[in-house]
Formats: sequence, structure tokens, C-alpha cells
Amino acid sequence: MDLQLENSQLQRKLKTLISRAEENQKIQQRYQDYEQRLLSCTSLAEFLNELLLEAVDYFQLATVDLVIYDPDYSIRDLLAFLNIECYGDCLQLRHGPEYFSTLFGNEPKVILKALKSDAFNDPLSVLIKDGVNANSVALLPLTRQGELIASLHFASQSSTRFTRDKATDFLVHLSHIAAVCFENCVAREQLKRQGQIDPLTQVANRRSFDEDYARELARTERNKNSLACMFVDVDFFKKINDTWGHQAGDLCLKLVAAQIQLQLRTTDILARYGGEEFVVVLPDCESTEAGIIAERIREAVENLQVLRSELELQEGASSVASEADSAIELRVSVGLCAWRPPQERTHDLALLGQQLLASADEAMYACKRAGRNRVTAIEFQLDTATASTSL
Ligand code: GH3
Ligand code: MG
Ligand code: MG
Repeated sequence: MDLQLENSQLQRKLKTLISRAEENQKIQQRYQDYEQRLLSCTSLAEFLNELLLEAVDYFQLATVDLVIYDPDYSIRDLLAFLNIECYGDCLQLRHGPEYFSTLFGNEPKVILKALKSDAFNDPLSVLIKDGVNANSVALLPLTRQGELIASLHFASQSSTRFTRDKATDFLVHLSHIAAVCFENCVAREQLKRQGQIDPLTQVANRRSFDEDYARELARTERNKNSLACMFVDVDFFKKINDTWGHQAGDLCLKLVAAQIQLQLRTTDILARYGGEEFVVVLPDCESTEAGIIAERIREAVENLQVLRSELELQEGASSVASEADSAIELRVSVGLCAWRPPQERTHDLALLGQQLLASADEAMYACKRAGRNRVTAIEFQLDTATASTSL
């Protein structure tokens, strides 16, 4: 062959190879930049936003879905606690392994595949969603220590974008990074949550309450709306412990906390203030309305049917008392006090907060004196003498 012709053919080949390498380099850089964004997420909300919303534009996809394996329902509880619920279909939880074995079989690895909407026998048909024009998908198993923790799905409108013949190196790398980031964000949120939650009743603890209360007082001062505080104290709780045992007492506390929570809005604050005492803060709530809610709480606890046999079963005791099943009488006293900020600014909100709580506590003790199992409200008077000395 003519040497010159051979030379120019080689040149052309080389050019193609170089341009392919350059193209690859660009794609790699793009993936690396995105991975950097995932790595810099400091909260689960930020991570999910990056993964489920930002990635759609960044990689020009039809949708991104994340299906989380949540066998012990801990992720469900964490998402609820963090108020994360805005991703609809794109964020799903599966409590059993079946869904994932349908997708990946026994050995989770990245799968690229064109989707055919009429292929009902295809296990991937579970990914076809109404109203989304997805014609090929990349399924990325997220694994940690060899265990699958989630499955990330990139769907493209193009039927040729994710096909079996394409290389998966970048996606494999991305799946490793996403798995580590997801695990880290979850662990960090869980740790944070543990520091804020009372382990027995699963409502906020005192420390978390102090922060939330300060924030709500400041907001109330800005908005000039009314804010109500309540102390809910279980009546004769010592007697419950003495009669039924401490474990039964613990269960009663859990039930009371759950009943109070049921009467509240998601924006209200409920915390365990001390032993058998709970504090409730109702932002944007007038005294009259707060009185109705307090009465609802009192009634809900009174209507709790805590049977002795249930308690024994809960504690794992094998025998149920043979005598007639008796119910534990649970009652609460609720002290209430509301504050409406005046037009002029209240400077010492910390002191005001203390006085408001002290007034609600005083109202609760008034209930005790009057016979318990009732609601008492007192009008809030800011003790300006104390306030001015502390300024
Ligand atoms: P009152 O109607 O005046 O409020 O009477 P009380 O018996 O409820 O109040 P008191 O303050 O005399 O007793 C509260 C009891 O609550 C004493 C304490 O042992 C018990 N307690 C505090 N924390 C816990 C807990 O976490 N679990 C259990 N089982 N008991 C607790
Ligand atoms: Mg008590
Ligand atoms: Mg008490």
C-alpha cells in the first residue's frame, strides 16, 4: 500500500481516538463534579435534593428515582421526623427484599437497558411510570459492605442513552459515592435525632425543646400572633408505679405522649419536660383555642383504656392475671397560659419565655389543688420589675 495513504489512514484513526478520549475525559470530569456535590451535602434533605432534583437537569434525564431498602422502618421514621415528603413517586421505601431481587437478581450490579412499554414480562416494567417519557434506564444498586441499601434509577428519554453495549465505569463509581453519601447523611441525621428525642416517649427532649421554644418565641414576637404554652402532668403517677410497677408506668408515659401528639398540629411543639410532665407550645394559637385543645388532651388521656393484661403482655409476661381484667386509670392536669406580644418590642425574650412557662406551671398546680383531671388557664402578666432588672 502507498505509504502516504497508510499514513493518512493512521492519522485519521488517531484523531478519532483522541477525540473519543477527550470526550470521555469531559464526561468523567462531569461525573466527578457531580460526585463532589454529593460529597459536600451535610444533610439528608440536601442529599436527596441533589440526587432527585438537581441530577435531572445536570445529566439531562427524564427522571431520577431512589428506592430505599428499609427493613426496620427506621428510614420511614427519619423522613417523617425530618418532614421530608416532597418527592412523591421519585422517593420510595421498600421494607422487603423482593423488589430489589426482581431488579438485580442475587448479584447487584449496574444495569443499562432500553425500556419497552409493552414488555410486561420484563421485570423492569415496574419502572415504567405514567406520564414519564422514559425509554432507557440505568439502574444503580447502592451497596455498603456488600449489602444493598438502595437502588438509584436514571431514566432517559433517549432509547439509545443507556444500552447494554455502553460502558458502566462512571456509573459504577457514582453508585459507590452515592451509597457512601447516603449512609453518612442517614447516620448523621440519626445521631442528631437521638440527641433531640426522649428515648422512652419518642417526643422531643428538654434540650431540643429549649431551642425550638426560643425560635417560636422570636417568631411570635415578629409576627405579633398569640402563642400558648401548656404543662401536662400525669395525676397520681407515683401510685401507678407503686401499684403496677415501673415498666407499666413507662408504658403509660408512652401512651400519654402519643395521645397528646395526636391532638396537635405538626407545627406545635411537644416535649417531655421531666419525669411525668410534658410541655406543649402552640404557635399562632389564641387562649380560647388553646383551652379547647387542652380539654381535648385531658379527655383523650381519660379515655385511654390501658388494661392490666395488655401491660403484662407488653412486658412479655407469660401469664395473664386470672382475676377480672382491670383498667389503669390515667388522668392528666393541664395548665395553660398564652402570650400575645404587644406592639412595642419585647427585648428579653428569654426571660419572657421563662415567665410564660412558670405561669403555665402555676396553672397546672392550680389544677392539682382543685382536685386534678382538669384544665386551668391563667392570664399572662409579664413581670416587668423582674424583666427590667435583668436587662
Ligand atoms: P400529682 O398528681 O401531684 O402529680 O402526683 P404524682 O404522683 O404524679 O407526682 P409525684 O411528683 O409525686 O410523682 C411522680 C412520679 O413519677 C415519681 C417518679 O418515680 C415517677 N417517674 C418519673 N419519671 C419516670 C419514668 O420515666 N418512668 C416511670 N415509670 N416513672 C417515672
Ligand atoms: Mg404527676
Ligand atoms: Mg410532676
